[in-house]
Parts: sequence; structure tokens; C-alpha cells
Amino acid sequence: MKNILNRRNLFKLGAAAIVSIPVLKIGNVFAEAAATATEELAWDACPIVVPEKIVKKLAKDKAKTRLAFVANATTSTHKKYKDGAACGNCKFYKSKVEDGKITREVGGYAKCTMLANKYVNRCGWCKSYKKADDKYAIYKYLKKEEA
Ligand code: SF4
Repeated sequence: MKNILNRRNLFKLGAAAIVSIPVLKIGNVFAEAAATATEELAWDACPIVVPEKIVKKLAKDKAKTRLAFVANATTSTHKKYKDGAACGNCKFYKSKVEDGKITREVGGYAKCTMLANKYVNRCGWCKSYKKADDKYAIYKYLKKEEA
């Protein structure tokens, strides 16, 4: 239970924009990593800050509420949510799979077609989620934990 609370608290930190990008490993190991030139995160990490260059391009709260969006997929209680689903493996998340890697993200964020092409983080989820098999094969470890 403690780990779950820690994860929730860490997600609340996501509003700040800073140069380095701390990451939350899905395995509950908190680590801090410098942003790379391409602002990519490890495939198994969730961003906890918003890269400065997309701060003004984030999805609007009103639109997110309409879709029952949550910043941390594992906290969703929506009846459509299934364990393992997340923006990072959704068809509407405008990343690509190239050479076996998820690409075209900015610090763990990408545009969402369902949210007016505004940015959402890869660990989020909403009721419009549609599984992208190629992304799911890579990004499938964001799951609810045993209490
Ligand atoms: S449509 Fe997909 S990418 Fe967009 S917010 Fe919902 S789950 Fe995330």
C-alpha cells in the first residue's frame, strides 16, 4: 500500500517544468535521470514533470474530465479500464514504434488525437482508450499493484 501512495504522490509533482527529467520507474524505484537531447525516457518509466517546451500544449482539464482521464492509469476506477492499458499503448497517442522502440515522445508525453492533439503523459488513461498492439508489446508494465 505504501508504494501505491508513493506513486500517487509522485504523480502530483508533475506540474513543474524543469530542465532535468526525474522519472518514476514502474517497478517503484525512483530515479533521477538527466534529459537526453531527444528528451526520451526509458520505456518503463513514467514522467513526473512536464518538459518546459510542452507546458503550454498540455491537454485541457475540461476535456480530460469529459473523458474520465487520470494521469496515473492504475488509479482509474472506470469500468472500461483494464490493467496494463495506458496512453503509452493507445492508438490515439501520437507516438510511433520504430525499430522496436516507442518514439516521437517528448519526455514521456505525446499528443492525443482525442484531446485536440494536446499532450498527455504516457502513464495516463481515459475512457476513449483503444489498444495499439504494437505499442502494448513494448509498454505493458504499468499495472495495479497488490495492496
Ligand atoms: S485516447 Fe488514449 S492517448 Fe488519449 S487520453 Fe485517452 S487513453 Fe490517453
